[in-house]
Amino acid sequence: MRVNKVLRLALGLVDTVVLGACVDLVTGDLVVSVRPWRRASSRCGVCGVRCPGYDNGSGPRRWRSVDLGLLRVYLEADVPRVRCVTHGVVVAQVPWARHNAGHTRDFDQMVAWLVKNTSRSTVAQFMRVVWRTVGAIVNRVRADLDAAAGDRFAGVRRIGIDEISYKRRHKYLVVVVDHDTGRVLWLHPGRTKQTLGKFFNELGEERCHQLELVSADGADWIAEMVGLRAPQAQRCMDPFHVVMWAMDAMDATRRVAAKKARTEGQKAHSALLGPGCRFTLWKNPEDLNARQQATLADIERTNQDVFRAYLLKEQLRAVFAAGGEAGCELLDKWMEWAATCDLPAFVDLADRMQWYVDEIKNSLVHRLSNARVESVNTKIRLLTRIAFGFKSVEALMALVMLHLGGYDLRLPGRAMTNHPH
Ligand SMILES: [Zn+2]
Repeated sequence: MRVNKVLRLALGLVDTVVLGACVDLVTGDLVVSVRPWRRASSRCGVCGVRCPGYDNGSGPRRWRSVDLGLLRVYLEADVPRVRCVTHGVVVAQVPWARHNAGHTRDFDQMVAWLVKNTSRSTVAQFMRVVWRTVGAIVNRVRADLDAAAGDRFAGVRRIGIDEISYKRRHKYLVVVVDHDTGRVLWLHPGRTKQTLGKFFNELGEERCHQLELVSADGADWIAEMVGLRAPQAQRCMDPFHVVMWAMDAMDATRRVAAKKARTEGQKAHSALLGPGCRFTLWKNPEDLNARQQATLADIERTNQDVFRAYLLKEQLRAVFAAGGEAGCELLDKWMEWAATCDLPAFVDLADRMQWYVDEIKNSLVHRLSNARVESVNTKIRLLTRIAFGFKSVEALMALVMLHLGGYDLRLPGRAMTNHPH
């Protein structure tokens, strides 16, 4: 086998002729000269349609390819321009890279796979790319995965709609999750009725009317848009958000108690109720360590208000854990308890929940999983932090879809492997 053919196989090149290779003496990189097969040449870079040539372009270009052993590899080729009926004069398509990309398809694919399966710093170091470039790459890969996945909305019946903040909480994404598969179906920057309207447009009239259940966080703009586009769907409150409201009410109660202790000069007591005990109160009781259990016991002994707030929070979690008719009965009891408990934050909360009581009961009856909504929400928040350094919100959205969109993402070339060893 000639060495050029070996290079072609090693680099996974298809529809491509390898003309030769040399090591760039300045950079130490392997530069492989290539050209497309005749049948893959003279095609529009945007749409791939065969079209007449325009000129020879502006000299050779290089694309970063996957490494060969320890060497960084670049493909080098002349790229003529063609005249497409639809797209005018454009750079011709090349089989090894996406239009306007500086990396080969396999390089992009490998980066995307690593992004999904390893850490941010592993990807950047292992592939020798800066994080900003990774953003552009996942964006390109996502577009192709979307195209390959076909109809992502087929059979969707139960969805959750959520808003998630990014960029230090100044900007928002609307996220739509499929309750049955846990996949993120759709996301878009913004948080208005119009933003959500775009989702329903993409879903199409027929599928809008097939939606059985839509859960959300109680925001008016979501409820209004759902009422408009999918009036038959049962509207549910996401249990996750209701429990978060109770967490907030509990924390407000704790802060008031801590302040009172401080102004009354009870140093030890105000320290006990300080921010340090927040996590103890937030955590599920079964997850508390010995020290946190002791803190909780101290609070039970010394501050009935804060301990009652804690019990109210826990009881609300129990309401959702029970679910069904039993959950609905527990909810009625909980609302009564909260409304008459003399803790202002919980009296207010009971008042607010009265507005949503039907939606909350729908969630209970349909046994909407709190865990799923919560975990998607948590993962997206984490990804918005990982995406820090990406240039565009599109790259952030692509990162989210890569992780949570349920795509079939594989390493390049692995489909051809017959021998696992
Ligand atoms: Zn074209």
